[in-house]
Amino acid sequence: MGTIQQNIAEVEKRVADAAARAGRKPEDVLLLAVSKTKPVEVIKEAVACGLTSLGENKVQEIMEKYEPMGPDVHWHLIGHLQTNKVKYIIDKVDMIHSVESLRLAEEINKRAAAKDLVMDVLVEVNMADEESKFGVKPEEVEAFLHDLSQLPNIRVRGLMTVAPFVENPEENRVYFRKMRELLVDMNGKKIDNINMDTLSMGMTGDYEVAIEEGATIVRVGTGIFGERFYPNKA
Ligand SMILES: *Cc1c(COP(=O)(O)O)cnc(C)c1O
Repeated sequence: MGTIQQNIAEVEKRVADAAARAGRKPEDVLLLAVSKTKPVEVIKEAVACGLTSLGENKVQEIMEKYEPMGPDVHWHLIGHLQTNKVKYIIDKVDMIHSVESLRLAEEINKRAAAKDLVMDVLVEVNMADEESKFGVKPEEVEAFLHDLSQLPNIRVRGLMTVAPFVENPEENRVYFRKMRELLVDMNGKKIDNINMDTLSMGMTGDYEVAIEEGATIVRVGTGIFGERFYPNKA
C-alpha cells in the first residue's frame, strides 16, 4: 500500500478502466470511501483528494465524526441499522444502504417525516443466500418493494449487496450480474413510486468485477485506507 493519495489514484484508475471495459463512463460510478475505524485526520486526507462521499457501518462512528468532518462531506450508512438508532442519523446521512425489514423502513419513514425530509434508501439483498449475512432474499424483493412504495418519506433508489468473501473476484460476478437483472426486472414491474437507478455492490476485493456488471456505487475501504485494526476495547 502507498499513501492515501497514491491508493486513491490507483483505485480511481481501476474504476475508470473497469468502466471503460463495460462501455460505461467513470463518472457514472460513485467511489464511496469506507472510513469505518479510521480517524478524522486520515479521512480528511481522502476528502482532500476529492472523495467527499464516506461510508460508515456504525451509527456511533457517524455521530463522532460528523461535526469534526464538517458540512462538505456526504455520509452513507452502509451497515446493519438498529431501529432504535435511526433517530440519531436521520438528518446526517444522504443514503441508507441497508434497509432489509419493513419495521426498519417504517421507522426511517417516520423519522424522516418528522424532519420534513425524504430519505434515499437501498434494499439490502442477500444475493448468495449466506446464513451470516443480512438482507432480504432475491425472491422476497418484489413484495418488499410493494410495502416500501407505501412510505412517502423514503425514496427507494436501488439495491445493495455484500457479496461473499472470495479469493477470486470472478466468483462473485454471477451475484453482481443477478443483482443488476433483479433491478431491471423490478423496474419493469412498474410498482408505484419505484424506479431504481442505483446498484451498490463491490468492495476492495471485487469492485472492478462489480463495475463491469453495472455497479453505480462501489464501497472501498481497505483499498484506500489500508488494513483496519480493531483494538481490543477491554
Ligand atoms: C467494511 C465494508 C466495506 C468495505 O470493505 P473493504 O473490503 O475494506 O473495501 C464495504 N461495504 C460494507 C457494508 C462494509 O461493512
